[in-house]
Amino acid sequence: MSEKVNVLIIGSGPAGYTAAIYASRAGFTPVLYQGGQPGGQLTITNDVENYPGYPDGINGPQMMMDFQKQAERFGTDVRYGLVTSVDFNSYPFKAMVDEKIELEASSVIISTGASAKWLGLESEQRLATNGGGVSACAVCDGFFYKGQEVAVVGAGDTAAEEATYLSKICSKVHMLVRRDEMRASKIMQQRVLNTPNIEIHWNTETKDIIGETEIEKVILNNTKTGEESELNVTGFFVAIGHKPNTDIFKGQLDMDESGYLITQADSSKTNIEGVFACGDAQDNVYRQAVTAAGTGCMAALDAERFLAAKEMEA
Ligand code: NDP
Repeated sequence: MSEKVNVLIIGSGPAGYTAAIYASRAGFTPVLYQGGQPGGQLTITNDVENYPGYPDGINGPQMMMDFQKQAERFGTDVRYGLVTSVDFNSYPFKAMVDEKIELEASSVIISTGASAKWLGLESEQRLATNGGGVSACAVCDGFFYKGQEVAVVGAGDTAAEEATYLSKICSKVHMLVRRDEMRASKIMQQRVLNTPNIEIHWNTETKDIIGETEIEKVILNNTKTGEESELNVTGFFVAIGHKPNTDIFKGQLDMDESGYLITQADSSKTNIEGVFACGDAQDNVYRQAVTAAGTGCMAALDAERFLAAKEMEA
């Protein structure tokens, strides 16, 4: 027997919890599945200083606990579990949780977010989770390195944008590019090349990041000569792209070539009526907590209208 749910929310970042707050205040009893990283990307950030309403900043994990508490206060049923498959081809929609719990949902809000890609070094993960100087978001964490020397890995538009952003805050930015050319658009490359305090290290890979609790130095490898060198920086920004967490929707929902869900202009509507998308799963441009929360609100309002129209039909 499958459980019936009126609003199923998949994902627990700012988009999912905001959708939950709105849907529960509208009288629904949404069920929110938290996914593999409860709280989403903000749980691996230190202080969040750019979310309005927190004049002294707040740490990411605490902020997400507050979001959860606020959603639960109005009746959202927040559950630990991963939605492992969905079937949007028939109505009500079907979803499977942890490959064993079957749900029937009258509407679905997708807020599965995106995950930053990492280099895969052990030191990188350790220093990213304990606030030791490794980050995947310059806008979130750049300010903590004011006046200091930092490194940015990557050569796409994200890396170019992050390097340019950091150059205004930090004394020097080392851009670590693994080939002898950049993938970023010409205009972004020009911006980087014209910024005096950005130094580009061509043909350079990161071999290791040294430091137990905070970065001491970075070991680099020249891919052409094989020569090793050391770089002294206090901040290390990984900007090698993001991957939206949308694999389970492939073949059912329209997405772009990178996997970002496509929503209709000025709405959270996907190509399936009754299925809505918000947050980073459908946004590769802004990717901020506050924009994710905004689209979460849109998704809840869209779901509410969809369900009201369904009720009128019945
Ligand atoms: P991209 O996939 O475009 O670029 C990733 C970059 O990271 C590449 O230069 C790649 O190197 C490098 N890289 C990947 N893996 C490693 C590794 N292990 N070690 C070192 N370097 C690595 O991702 P972006 O996030 O930059 O951009 C994604 C999309 O979003 C693009 O379409 C982009 O145009 C868009 N975007 C647009 C912006 C804007 O218009 N303002 C801002 C940000 C993104 P290599 O080139 O050698 O493969």
